[in-house]
Amino acid sequence: MPKPKNTPRRPAPVAPASPCPCGRAATYRDCCAAFHEGRATAPTAERLMRSRYSAFAVGDTGYLLRTWHPTTRPGSLDLDPAQRWTGLDILGTTGGSAFHTEGTVEFRAHYTVHGHADSQYEHSRFVRESGQWVYLDALPPA
Ligand SMILES: [Zn+2]
Repeated sequence: MPKPKNTPRRPAPVAPASPCPCGRAATYRDCCAAFHEGRATAPTAERLMRSRYSAFAVGDTGYLLRTWHPTTRPGSLDLDPAQRWTGLDILGTTGGSAFHTEGTVEFRAHYTVHGHADSQYEHSRFVRESGQWVYLDALPPA
């Protein structure tokens, strides 16, 4: 039996003129929305990672799946509508520039669930496929 499809959720709509959830000093329209809407592609692994964080914040599962490497991409993605993403700290990067085909981004993403603040740490690997950065997987904890 096929499971009923949920309507896409947008847990925390972000206005185009609002500050971008990814934390860069730009509006959402001029920053990650350009990637979410397909007007541009992320030039570096860090920008891709930031845009994926923003996609979690605005509930854009389509973008998360599109920017996931086909070998590691899940079949579908359900976001917890109670989870509110509240900030992103980039802790370090390796490679990931226009001159690289691989890169890593180490980050801590902050969120609240039902008023309880928590965070998620990850050291992510990215690869450039046909000129576009995609998320590959997470490195095991050091
Ligand atoms: Zn952004």
